[in-house]
Amino acid sequence: MDQALYEIPRRKSRAVMVGKVQVGGGAPVSIQSMTNTHTYDVQETIDQIKRLEDAGCEIIRVTVESQQSLKVLDKIKAAMTVPLVADIHFAYTLALASIDAGADKIRINPGNIGGMDRLAQVVEKCKKFNVAMRVGVNSGSLEKDLLEKHGHPTPEAIVESAMRHIHFIESLGYHNMIISVKSSHVPTMIRSYRLLAEQCDYPFHVGVTEAGTKMQGTVKSAAGIGTILADGMGDTIRVSLTADPVEEVKVATHLLRSLGYRKEGIDIVACPTCGRCHVDLEKMVDQVETATLTMKTPMRVAIMGCVVNGLGEGAEADIGICSEKGHGVIIEKGEIKTRLKEEELVPHLISEIKKRHEAATKKA
Ligand code: SF4
Repeated sequence: MDQALYEIPRRKSRAVMVGKVQVGGGAPVSIQSMTNTHTYDVQETIDQIKRLEDAGCEIIRVTVESQQSLKVLDKIKAAMTVPLVADIHFAYTLALASIDAGADKIRINPGNIGGMDRLAQVVEKCKKFNVAMRVGVNSGSLEKDLLEKHGHPTPEAIVESAMRHIHFIESLGYHNMIISVKSSHVPTMIRSYRLLAEQCDYPFHVGVTEAGTKMQGTVKSAAGIGTILADGMGDTIRVSLTADPVEEVKVATHLLRSLGYRKEGIDIVACPTCGRCHVDLEKMVDQVETATLTMKTPMRVAIMGCVVNGLGEGAEADIGICSEKGHGVIIEKGEIKTRLKEEELVPHLISEIKKRHEAATKKA
């Protein structure tokens, strides 16, 4: 892959350790997701966590909403290879007990934890056990006085709430915070992160809350998270979808790759097709994507519907195909290498990608 491509300069944030994963301080942007099983269904939860880990999820959050779920948290933690985040709402005692159960990070919304004295107890325990904390302020749970002052959950109100909590937590001598200022309204969320960046250097957990279905949520996340990442902000991301959480990881991975934050993996460049295309390009792309999904070798692969424009468009690709009616060509860095029949194109391309991947893996 061409390493000379433009790279987005990143906001300088402080480093916070979530278990063994560094968030902020120049660390790669990590991918998070959250299980949607009942946490107390321990095997079901562990199975989903394994699928998330296999898909490339680097930090996994589970809800700890009851004593029943709390009781199995240590078992879940023992089965994980990535850090565990305990998601807490309302019950600060569950936050305290989750730390004992081995959580690497506690996610709280200071607005619903039951007051500053309870928040202080959670902070003190995180401090004592060196556990990270996400301070997650959402547009839906702002303090009354801020809503009165700003009229509704404006970005200014959201950021004022976040800074209020940050200052309080800092006053207790604790700084292992990761901050999120989410909203389901993308422009509000974008402005909130931009405003917050002017006021603190804590790492950002970026997401669009309640983004919706696979299609809508993907688009909203690409617009919202993508904009913040394009600004150079964002240290860890979570794509929220009303779908299998593995889909969240796939979307997040593609998002990071598309903005140049992830170099590893097969980056497929495919044309949208037009009247010049005489093959089922969608099917071809799908076959290549499925066969190469788990490969970590950085490689740009072009799949183009015609030779006329495909050669130029695919010039940046390490390898690719340009199709024509009944046949096509294999290209490398924009140069034609082999002419093949249509049905030979995809198998040949996949086999070439595999060869390169295996060679790179051996070298490493
Ligand atoms: S590469 Fe060819 S088929 Fe694809 S969109 Fe461009 S002109 Fe059309």
